[in-house]
Amino acid sequence: MSEEALVPEEVAAFRDLIISKLKYSVGTEPDHAVEHDWFEAVAMATRDHLVKTWLDHPERARRHESKRIYYLSLEYLIGRLLFASLSNLGMLDLARAALAELDVDLERIRTLEPDAALGNGGLGRLAACFMESMSSLGLVAIGYGIRYDYGLFRQTVVDGWQQEQTETWLEFGNPWEFERPEVSYQISFGGSVSCATGEQGAQCHVWHPAETMRSIAYDTPVVGWRRASVNALRLWRGRAETDLHLDRFNAGDYLGAVAEEVRAESISRVLYPAADTPAGQELRLRQEYFFVSASLQDLLRRHLQQYGTLLDLPGHVAIQLNDTHPAIAVAELMRLLVDIYGVPWDKSWALTVATLAYTNHTLLPEALETWPVALMERLLPRHMQIIYLINAQHIDHLRAQGMHDFDLLRAVSLIEEDNGRRVRMGNLAFLGSHSVNGVSALHTELMRKTVFAQMHRLYPERISNKTNGITFRRWLYQCNRGLTGLLVETLGEGLLDDPENRLRDLEPFADQLLFQKRFAEVRQRNKQALAAQVQESLGVAIAPDALFDVQVKRIHEYKRQLLNLLHCVALYQAIRDEPEVDWVPRVKILGGKAASNYQQAKLIIKLANDIARTVNADPTVRGLLKVVFLPNYNVSLAEAIIPAADISEQISTAGLEASGTSNMKFALNGALTIGTLDGANVEMSERIGREHMFIFGLTASQVEARKRNGDYGGAGAIAASSRLSEVLTAIRSGIFSPDDPGRYGGLVDGLIHHDHFMVCADFEAYWQAQFEVEARWREPEQWWRSAVLNSARMGWFSADRTIREYAREIWGALP
Ligand SMILES: *Cc1c(COP(=O)(O)O)cnc(C)c1O
Repeated sequence: MSEEALVPEEVAAFRDLIISKLKYSVGTEPDHAVEHDWFEAVAMATRDHLVKTWLDHPERARRHESKRIYYLSLEYLIGRLLFASLSNLGMLDLARAALAELDVDLERIRTLEPDAALGNGGLGRLAACFMESMSSLGLVAIGYGIRYDYGLFRQTVVDGWQQEQTETWLEFGNPWEFERPEVSYQISFGGSVSCATGEQGAQCHVWHPAETMRSIAYDTPVVGWRRASVNALRLWRGRAETDLHLDRFNAGDYLGAVAEEVRAESISRVLYPAADTPAGQELRLRQEYFFVSASLQDLLRRHLQQYGTLLDLPGHVAIQLNDTHPAIAVAELMRLLVDIYGVPWDKSWALTVATLAYTNHTLLPEALETWPVALMERLLPRHMQIIYLINAQHIDHLRAQGMHDFDLLRAVSLIEEDNGRRVRMGNLAFLGSHSVNGVSALHTELMRKTVFAQMHRLYPERISNKTNGITFRRWLYQCNRGLTGLLVETLGEGLLDDPENRLRDLEPFADQLLFQKRFAEVRQRNKQALAAQVQESLGVAIAPDALFDVQVKRIHEYKRQLLNLLHCVALYQAIRDEPEVDWVPRVKILGGKAASNYQQAKLIIKLANDIARTVNADPTVRGLLKVVFLPNYNVSLAEAIIPAADISEQISTAGLEASGTSNMKFALNGALTIGTLDGANVEMSERIGREHMFIFGLTASQVEARKRNGDYGGAGAIAASSRLSEVLTAIRSGIFSPDDPGRYGGLVDGLIHHDHFMVCADFEAYWQAQFEVEARWREPEQWWRSAVLNSARMGWFSADRTIREYAREIWGALP
């Protein structure tokens, strides 16, 4: 893809800028520089251009007046920024040429950048895609979050088991960020609240915290496509009010002298895995409050500076809460307005609701956050009072409307009374927001029917759907330059600026054999590159001609990696039983991290590796089936894998995947999906056409009906399928775990007796769908026609479309 015409003077200028960064910022000379020095120098030179773009922006004055969008997210799964920034600046070829003059290879430099893994998976990646999209659409936005010292753990696989290492992404510094020590706010915890009578006789509350600390801002510029605009990702780090207590130090108490510093800094130390132990609970609540309080103080200060009053806040500010993690914002915004800025309670409530909006990401009841009342009272006493008051008014209001149904009032209360008293953060976010959205049509419908059924009855207008999207800049232009080049050549440059509408122009080419051939060639090169990477990292040879069947995502029972592995074993047995059949050569590629305390997920990783070892070493298989588990799945690995996938596995138990976004990345890049009617798969099948995907299995309502009847179908499905029962017998017998034959006994028993995720119930349908995959693969014209149509029809899943919907329907902001 060469969208840039190179001007020799510009190449020379960028080359000189890199040299000057190398000398005066890194402190070395070209002759002595190691590769990492070059990376830093290039990153800093690129950052200069980001800042320049920002300062020179012709629309800066207008931006000042625009509505400001604040995106609050505990996670940002950013990945690397060098290519993302250069590509959006339109400087990729220029940088490559400038470095070539210095005898440095940009592609090598690229891989030295650590992945900023400040998120777990889809939710954090969505936040990163949204930031890029908001900049590309010219929205004025700030993303707020935490600058974790250690991102999501680095996964290694030792003897087939997952091991977790700390992710030290800041070890060599971070060339992208600006530390802003002057942007600092006080954050308080604990203590007590007293009541006083204010000037006009009104009651006011004063919080006397037991503990205070500070937040420090770090800004990372995020540039939009073709420099549309630059916004900041502002991440907070914890600091002590006083770094060192000199008196204690001088008295010989060296540890005590820094205790406060250690305690304060621990707040931004680590990103918690999505589902972790209660031990981390209190620190997690502290983290949530810490970043919410810092962000709200920051944005209120900015608003007051510009407008002088907070009474028009919703006219100029929209705050989006990414999941329930920042839900404490409802109480904190109320506290700041009422206690600090003296806005009357009722007015404050109106401002809060009009300003906040909430995105729900999960229906799993165990994932909807609740906090013990006792913990809240101890850590955030004033907030607990505010929550009680909001709740009382909420319930009074319902009673006044004649609602006395005890069960209804219990369901919509902010306080859960059943398992010890707990604050329901989901209900708090719902009540304190003017808009609540789900992330796919199915998920939103289920939200209305399940978790928020009662709330929805009370506020029928509040819930809406905003189906997730992905940024095509990263997930097509940057990760698949070969395909992007072909598309530009075929459809013209304009495609890059309007893929939502222009990708469709590809449809007529789906039937052209010549185009199919070129499409297939591009993908073949991507597969060769991935094969080389697998060879290098795992020492396993995979054939680029084989069908690459890929499932990469967090390891979770509901995502059903286990179903994929059962198919893998069934295929293995079928090949062994009938070696003379002309099987379609297939490579099963898996990857993903398991939460460190999620034993079942870790066992599934071990099973994948046990199967891989057995299958790959079996001479009767003759390479017809290969299995690889790629360690440490992250954004960069995703960028290498996705353009090389033929089949995308999106096989969650229907009703449990809120949207999924990797499903979109794969289809955009021309992979065919095998999947259930779950999350955004449903909308993908409507737009792509069901005949160009392999849809199978129980639907969400069928799953629901079975659950209602207590019928998980394990034993029944096993009795009905000799194939499935042979697979389970083999796994149980220890064929894959000769060193510990009993390893998978419990896992198999689980499938028979409480197959909660309906793996067995869906097995035969899945096997059949996989059979159809092979049949299509044997008809290359049909396969490539479907593949091209997948790419052509994915335009709607651009994050730009999603963000435009948020802007228009939730934020009241014009891109
Ligand atoms: C897109 C992405 C995800 C989300 O994947 P799903 O299959 O939608 O759960 C997770 N991790 C990374 C690194 C991603 O790029």
